[in-house]
Amino acid sequence: MMNYISMLKEHGLKATFQRMHILEVIGEYGHKDIDEIYAEVIKVHPSLSLATIYKNIIIMSQSGVLSEVPVIGKKSKYEISKQDHIHLICTHCGSIEDKNIFIENKNSLDQLVISEHFNLEKKEINLYGVCSHCQNIKAS
Ligand SMILES: [Zn+2]
Ligand SMILES: [Zn+2]
Repeated sequence: MMNYISMLKEHGLKATFQRMHILEVIGEYGHKDIDEIYAEVIKVHPSLSLATIYKNIIIMSQSGVLSEVPVIGKKSKYEISKQDHIHLICTHCGSIEDKNIFIENKNSLDQLVISEHFNLEKKEINLYGVCSHCQNIKAS
């Protein structure tokens, strides 16, 4: 189990109960959009407003605790930042799968960054399409 208190402190943020609870929700589900996070958080803290939760998600994204995953045609989802990985994003149901396969393209990526004199800060590869689950539903 990850220690969210030290994670927040490492990124220079206070470990408030709002932030802790947002991280617990995202940590449990992997990827969640703002409405889904809000729906979970108010079960425990009914007095929290959507604006407060949104503000804290933005602060945690800017500081690097969270990463925003854009979903075409839907609201962005958020995940707890971790090692570089690829996302398989379903444009039909909005599901996001993490895949730890950077290896194959690693050399060409490294070469591109070097030849462009690009000061790389973050690697993010998102693949958009229709997941196998949604393809099965369509076929039946
Ligand atoms: Zn799908
Ligand atoms: Zn991810």
